[in-house]
Amino acid sequence: MTARVLVVDDVLPNVKLLEAKLLGEYFDVMTATSGPEALELIHREMPDIVLLDVMMPGMNGFEVCKRIKGDSKTAHIPVVMVTALDKQSDRIAGLDAGADDFLTKPVEDVALFARVRSLVRLKVTMDEIRNRESTEMSLGATKGMAEFNFDPGNTQILLLDEDPVSAKKLASDLKLIGKLHHLGGGKDVISKIRERDYDLVIINLLMSETDGLRVCSQMRSYEETRQLPILVVVDNNNTQLLVKALEMGVNDYLIAPADELELIARVKTQIKRKRYAEQLRENLHLSLQLATTDAVTGLYNRHYMSSHLDTLVKAAKSTGKEISLVMMDLDNFKLVNDNYGHASGDEVLQEFSQRIARNIRGVDLAARYGGEEFVIIMPDTRSADAVHISERLRATTADLPFLISGNKSPIQVTTSIGLVTMVGDEVNAKELLRRADTALYQAKESGRNCVIISD
Ligand code: GH3
Ligand code: MG
Ligand code: MG
Repeated sequence: MTARVLVVDDVLPNVKLLEAKLLGEYFDVMTATSGPEALELIHREMPDIVLLDVMMPGMNGFEVCKRIKGDSKTAHIPVVMVTALDKQSDRIAGLDAGADDFLTKPVEDVALFARVRSLVRLKVTMDEIRNRESTEMSLGATKGMAEFNFDPGNTQILLLDEDPVSAKKLASDLKLIGKLHHLGGGKDVISKIRERDYDLVIINLLMSETDGLRVCSQMRSYEETRQLPILVVVDNNNTQLLVKALEMGVNDYLIAPADELELIARVKTQIKRKRYAEQLRENLHLSLQLATTDAVTGLYNRHYMSSHLDTLVKAAKSTGKEISLVMMDLDNFKLVNDNYGHASGDEVLQEFSQRIARNIRGVDLAARYGGEEFVIIMPDTRSADAVHISERLRATTADLPFLISGNKSPIQVTTSIGLVTMVGDEVNAKELLRRADTALYQAKESGRNCVIISD
């Protein structure tokens, strides 16, 4: 993973040091030595993350952070405040200014890369949502994404720690973010983690009985937990263990005893990223549905039908089984619109589609082919059965008038149907549609409300 990092510090050697470290890991680096210079660069270059010194003459880091987060163009850019060691007041002021995380001076490599990677991953997910939203909102597809809100009733965090005291403390620290479930270790930890949908797992790597690192590696190997964020807790003098954990795919870490504000900031980052990733998947599902279905009737659209017909034709050819295709067109539909209005016409189309859907099998595919024209493809269906189904579709339309909202009396609707069955080498998508269309035309000529079978 690479990213464009802006380093802001008024002391030039500090800037150079961080720059060298980041360049060594192939990040792109920009630098600024004052608040105003940083803000100008951010607007021009839109970095992926900002590392921001607190103490700067003129405009301090908190003020710079406030301006970044207060501007809707730059609010999504993660900001890491670089604070002096153990300055709790700086952390509080940083959070108030909207900072996403903290680094302590002197900045250590492991900490630096863990924070930068964790926040850049979050930003990549958010950027993708923003991109898709700008496309999809113009198509009217998805609802805009509201500012992220934490709902403690809705967020499940699991803590794996043998020490019940630290579990109590963590539960209270995180009470505004989520519900903390405590697991004291033991033999079959991984199956307990897989049992439930957690939003985040915090694992203490300093347990005596349970091998926390093994649990991390098991979580990354099971499908259900592969994407689940992991935060590990380590102590200050076990860098090797920490590096191993990060290489294994652990998302971020805390040094014990965990500073409450750091804990909250990191937990929030991980949960946000998980939620944004879920939303991306859901939007993908929605887009696929939009691309394949007709908005008025909920049936497949013509485009999807055409491509699926090609697949079914190939299958019919290779199995040597019959394939039947029905084309239906509502009779005198123009009159329905003229007499009852276009909205009632739409409702008739919807009711008609539901009647079709109820009268075909799961393997049959019903699609809206045009305005008031519909196609049903029936794989592996002999002519006699297809005739029977077509007659049933005609009757289910004609026998029961359509009750439409706002109309006291039901509307009488009928449909004309053309049917074709083909088998063997002659099967051909274009020919199926052409012959069904010709049969449909003959049905109209024969007085409508009837089924004509192509010969
Ligand atoms: P025929 O029996 O020969 O098919 O007569 P018809 O009136 O159904 O045929 P025509 O093709 O002349 O008219 C089709 C009508 O269907 C005209 C069009 O306004 C209406 N229509 C097409 N799509 C929609 C739609 O989505 N909603 C509504 N309400 N009407 C539609
Ligand atoms: Mg018609
Ligand atoms: Mg028509």
